[in-house]
This record gives sequence, C-alpha cells and structure tokens, in this order.
Amino acid sequence: MSDCIFCKIIAGEISTYKVYEDDDVLAFLDVTPVNPGHTLVVPKKHYNNLLDLPETEASKLISIIKKITPAVLAGVGADGFNLELNNGVVSGQVVNHVHWHIVPRLAGDGRELWHGRSYDEGEAEEVLKKIKSKI
Ligand code: 5GP
Ligand code: ZN
Repeated sequence: MSDCIFCKIIAGEISTYKVYEDDDVLAFLDVTPVNPGHTLVVPKKHYNNLLDLPETEASKLISIIKKITPAVLAGVGADGFNLELNNGVVSGQVVNHVHWHIVPRLAGDGRELWHGRSYDEGEAEEVLKKIKSKI
C-alpha cells in the first residue's frame, strides 16, 4: 500500500535496522522501543490485521518469531518477552500493517501491563453465552 510506512520500509524507501529478512518476512527494530531489542515482525505483503492474515502467512510469521526471539533475548540479555499484536485503533494499533511486537523483558524493567478486573456475579456466564452463539 502506497501510504503504509511498513510497506515503505519493506520496499527500502525508508531505512531501518533489519534483524531478519527472507522472501516473505521482515523483522526490524522498533524505532521507539519499550526496551532495547524491541523487534517488529511483519509479512512483506500488506494485510491490515491478524484476522485478514491467511493461515499460511500466520504460520510462517510464528515460525520466524520462534527462530529469532532467542537471538533477540540473548543479544540484549533479557530473560523473557511479551509477544504483542494490536488489532484495530481501540487496541492501540497505529500502523495498519499487521505486525507482531517482540518486547524483551528484564527483571525490574518496570513495564506495566494492563490491569484486570473481576467479573460481576453472573457476568462471565452471560458473556460466554454470547461468544459461543457467534462461533
Ligand atoms: P502499533 O501501535 O501499531 O502496534 O505499533 C506500531 C509500532 O511501529 C510502534 O511501536 C512504533 O514505534 C513503530 N514504528 C512506527 N513507525 C516506524 C518506523 O518508521 N520505523 C520503525 N522501525 N518503527 C516504526
Ligand atoms: Zn503495508
């Protein structure tokens, strides 16, 4: 897509720090990392989000993520990672080209995840009923 910043990176029109590249996938350092080594993994073809991504492309991405993540963690001395994929504006997706975030985590890095809440009485059963009726 001509107005997509990640398509421009893939086409070489915008420079980036490439972690890994093959015919179908590019992994590169996020320009504003949560922690050093924060890496984005994208299909070279443009898809808006995970629900648009064909299963073969999704499998390939996961396989590359499993291949490069140990190197990312070893490279920055991290002990774990968050694997995140934002879908839609309300989730925080800013770039409309599906991308996994590999976010290296270090003990005491202070990064906050979202805060959960408890279900009210009967709420979980109600929600479950609605979800299952749509499957
Ligand atoms: P989202 O919020 O869409 O899940 O994440 C988009 C990510 O892309 C952000 O973390 C942002 O820092 C990163 N990003 C946006 N523009 C560029 C860019 O031009 N180069 C690189 N390397 N990362 C970018
Ligand atoms: Zn794109």
